[in-house]
Amino acid sequence: MSTFQAPKGTYDLTPPRSATFLAVREAISAPLRDSGYGYIETPGFENVELFARGVGESTDIVTKEMYTLTTKGGSQLALRPEGTASVLRAALEANLHKAGNLPVKLWYSGSYYRYERPQAGRYRHFSQVGAEAIGTEDPVLDAELIILADQAYRSLGLRQFRILLNSLGDKECRPVYREALQTFLRDLDLDEETRRRIEINPLRVLDDKRADVQKQLTDAPKLRDYLCDACKAYHEEVRALITAAGVVFEDDEKLVRGLDYYTRTTFEFVHDGLGSQSAVGGGGRYDGLSEMIGGPELPSVGWALGVDRTVLALEAEGVELDLPATTSVYAVPLGEEARRVLFGVVTELRRAGIAADFAFGGRGLKGAMKSANRSGARYTLVAGERDLAEGVVQLKDMESGEQTAVPLTEAAAELAKRLG
Ligand code: ATP
Ligand code: MG
Repeated sequence: MSTFQAPKGTYDLTPPRSATFLAVREAISAPLRDSGYGYIETPGFENVELFARGVGESTDIVTKEMYTLTTKGGSQLALRPEGTASVLRAALEANLHKAGNLPVKLWYSGSYYRYERPQAGRYRHFSQVGAEAIGTEDPVLDAELIILADQAYRSLGLRQFRILLNSLGDKECRPVYREALQTFLRDLDLDEETRRRIEINPLRVLDDKRADVQKQLTDAPKLRDYLCDACKAYHEEVRALITAAGVVFEDDEKLVRGLDYYTRTTFEFVHDGLGSQSAVGGGGRYDGLSEMIGGPELPSVGWALGVDRTVLALEAEGVELDLPATTSVYAVPLGEEARRVLFGVVTELRRAGIAADFAFGGRGLKGAMKSANRSGARYTLVAGERDLAEGVVQLKDMESGEQTAVPLTEAAAELAKRLG
């Protein structure tokens, strides 16, 4: 193993590709920030019980994928595998739900950790942007979140994604369905692990990717036939609202998602260019989670979009984000005196809010101009001894190639004017 290798299942974000990641985080969060969601940041680790209780003892995340550790003081911690439980815990701790302003709308962005089998689009360290709306049961809120995720993906130029939508019922109707499903599943020809899953989380069996399992599930009882009237009406309202917004979705009655806490509205964003790791994001309503972690009843809804897979989706669709050059002016000094003088101009430009960079290390004109080109700067400033003696610098427009001598004292003002 090379000394310079990132741990298995992880990778580094380095320029220039890292700029795309930043732009994706920005694009996903922009519609949230414009819709009353406030930024929240929680620790990278939590007490392990938060996830064991919240995410669900029987989920893959808790049984197989969680990074847990014992501290020197003997506490059991887990690197956060997802955001919702942490955000809800933090909202409860800060009593945000008691400020008389429900729903509490929050957005976050960060790193998450799961001990998974690494493959394309599946990593042990990955990045999500998420949103949670805590404390209100209102189909408009579910619709808002789906519409905002759709808006985020569209603003990035993504088109080949689909929205899968389902309702998982509530604490009235879900248990009845669960039992009917268990009765059906127990008669099937399934392996030991799947049999165990029937007893703890039977809905998850519907999500099994294996063809021989799927074949046996054709006649499985459908949740839709068990939804209570309240859940049915709620779901119809969500569907009508997102339809009215022009957001296209597919009803997918097999959609269950990996976390135990979901109720009613559940949805997933899938991208058809990604192969088997096709989910770019997902979410839903989690009306029971607050009570599961020891809080009051706070019906809530949220989603998390995977930044890594969104970037892969952009690449799969061949979408090039229109990222503006980060440097507007590049300074190329020729000689000691020019270094000091031009560095002064660069500092002045930066203080005026103009992105400027500098040819460091006393390089020759040719190499420095190459760097200027690579920086994407619109203008270069070149100065040698003779220019300084005349009190000027050479200002070159990198688009037209046109070069003009500008008095040194006016260089910054001239650039500010030209760059508008
Ligand atoms: P999957 O079915 O692919 O395992 P999931 O249901 O575990 O996804 P969530 O917990 O809902 O995913 O997380 C939301 C999003 O985070 C996913 O849609 C995906 O884009 C991203 N994500 C989840 N796990 C990983 C991972 N190991 N590597 C990269 N992205 C991930
Ligand atoms: Mg998973």
